[in-house]
Amino acid sequence: MKILVTVKRVVDYNVKIRVKPDGSGVDLANVKMSMNPFDEISVEEALRLKEAGKASEVVVVSIGPAKAEETLRTALAMGADRAILVETEAAVEPLAVAKIVKAVAEAEQPGLLIVGKQAIDDDSNQTGQMLSALLNWPQATFASRIEIGEDKASVTREVDGGLQTIEVKLPAVVTTDLRLNEPRYASLPNIMKAKKKPLDKKTPADYGVDIAPRLTVLKTEEPGGRKAGIKVGSVAELVEKLKTEAGVL
Ligand code: AMP
Repeated sequence: MKILVTVKRVVDYNVKIRVKPDGSGVDLANVKMSMNPFDEISVEEALRLKEAGKASEVVVVSIGPAKAEETLRTALAMGADRAILVETEAAVEPLAVAKIVKAVAEAEQPGLLIVGKQAIDDDSNQTGQMLSALLNWPQATFASRIEIGEDKASVTREVDGGLQTIEVKLPAVVTTDLRLNEPRYASLPNIMKAKKKPLDKKTPADYGVDIAPRLTVLKTEEPGGRKAGIKVGSVAELVEKLKTEAGVL
């Protein structure tokens, strides 16, 4: 079985982002970019399934600028076999990503498609769900455990009340949650080897997908600063303030 994994290049999670002065978006100039953390978890899971003999090939795909090749090379250095870069310098919304990945899945015919639960830049949490609808494949979102059977997968999902285990027929779309695994680091020899692994370059037009945006960003703002706290003199005063000022009692 082949596993297709989506990988997005995003602002590194350690970076304190800055909003552009005109509020039109986030300033990406000279900012460290990395693989979306949920996608690292997806790549790790695909590799573990391959190592356990449940998969024969791991193919990674990214839609993004030429520099997204670096992100794909990181996935190849972790152990993925092959990469596809669908190159565009434009920002691509989840629906367009889902349409492109659908076309890639139709060409590659994977048995399993692993997608991150959300990209930490736009926090959309839409791509996997849209992909499943477009492909008409079952979906298992927010996976914290995946077990592959003959022609089905058992997936434990993180839901509000705890854990829920469901069974889906393959091929299916699974989206990964934080507790699924701890991704490996790529070793230096593997980083060198990854430079020679196959990486196919395509464009959205090759898949006949129109990536024109459908959403308009009205404004982007930094979160408001936190107000300073106060010290209270007694429990009675605390209870009083919680009642009258905070309105939580
Ligand atoms: P989102 O729906 O934007 O929160 O993204 C959810 C997941 O979809 C991400 O974790 C990625 O696995 C995948 N994804 C979103 N955008 C892209 C992209 N441009 N290239 C590859 N994968 C993507």
